[in-house]
Amino acid sequence: MQFKSIRSRADAGVTMDVAEGHFAANHSHINNYIDLTKVRTHLFAARGAAEILAGFYESTLVEAILCLENTDTIGALMAEALSKSSFTGMNSDQDIAIVRPELNANNQMIFRGYAQEAVRGKNVLLLLSSISTGKTVTRAYDCLKYYGAILAGVCTVFSALREIDGIPVNAVFTGADVQDYMTYPPETCALCAAGRNLDALAGIWTPSSILTGILNYKKRAPLAPALACIVYAFTSSTVPSV
Ligand SMILES: [Zn+2]
Repeated sequence: MQFKSIRSRADAGVTMDVAEGHFAANHSHINNYIDLTKVRTHLFAARGAAEILAGFYESTLVEAILCLENTDTIGALMAEALSKSSFTGMNSDQDIAIVRPELNANNQMIFRGYAQEAVRGKNVLLLLSSISTGKTVTRAYDCLKYYGAILAGVCTVFSALREIDGIPVNAVFTGADVQDYMTYPPETCALCAAGRNLDALAGIWTPSSILTGILNYKKRAPLAPALACIVYAFTSSTVPSV
């Protein structure tokens, strides 16, 4: 599988790796697998993404950032950027909480302890890694409402959507950055209809090396789909889905 690196127009140090194919995500089938591991895990790339995203919220009160899909590093750097924004910035010199939800036995997002206090009655910015269908955003918004939080906005590193139920989505990368990016409901996927086999099951924590290994292994052994399912089950049970 060939990955192509795409640079942000706002900061060339922020990149995402994209591979063309036919992939099954948690709620959709997609024709491009997007690997955001580097921007989530490397300081310079994470800081670059955080500064781009913080730029959207200089005039918006942000008291907490809810980090989904292992975006805590970006979230912390966003908080720093917002707090250091110019004296006219709404969040200048403000302390900002970094929060992540837990999942209960029914796979519902919940807050406990300090996290409840950090969001109750507060303006909370929702931060994700990637948005394709918006289902995770809707789920997280429901969770925030339940705990009495006020949604300050929705931002993400990559989004195929510009808005979700009227809520604008701010992203470093959009579908326009990926040539012919398409997402389909699994039951009406055009690639499935065309008889194209799935190349891989794509969870957000599926590192490119494992994914590539699965794909290479699949060429040689019939057990590869079972291995892919094990990886998928692990990733989808430990992280929120998109
Ligand atoms: Zn399909």
